[in-house]
Amino acid sequence: MSIKIDVNKCVGCGKCLEVCPGSLIYKSKDNKAYIKYEKDCWGCTACLKECGVEAIKYYLGPDIGGNGSYLYTKKDKNFLNWHIVNKEGHESVLKINRKESNKY
Ligand code: SF4
Ligand code: SF4
Repeated sequence: MSIKIDVNKCVGCGKCLEVCPGSLIYKSKDNKAYIKYEKDCWGCTACLKECGVEAIKYYLGPDIGGNGSYLYTKKDKNFLNWHIVNKEGHESVLKINRKESNKY
């Protein structure tokens, strides 16, 4: 599993750089985030939760999907919606109340 950052969506806010516990994300000269060594990502999803423009995709490992299936998040006021896209392109959404996330 690893993340991929879509440079066409990234607005260079820098939040993903701040939260990555492994300092794996950098910014290019044109102010776009990128991950240098994808295989070093251990999938904590911190960057994914911070990106407000859906620029980061988290590719699922073979044990929980694989074959190009991925997650991304969308913020909606107090909710963080987890979009899960399977290998056929079917999308499911998990809606999590950010103020009550410790309950899950
Ligand atoms: S998923 Fe976690 S470890 Fe991987 S790049 Fe994002 S913040 Fe860093
Ligand atoms: S959080 Fe999203 S928009 Fe901000 S720098 Fe990272 S990828 Fe770009």
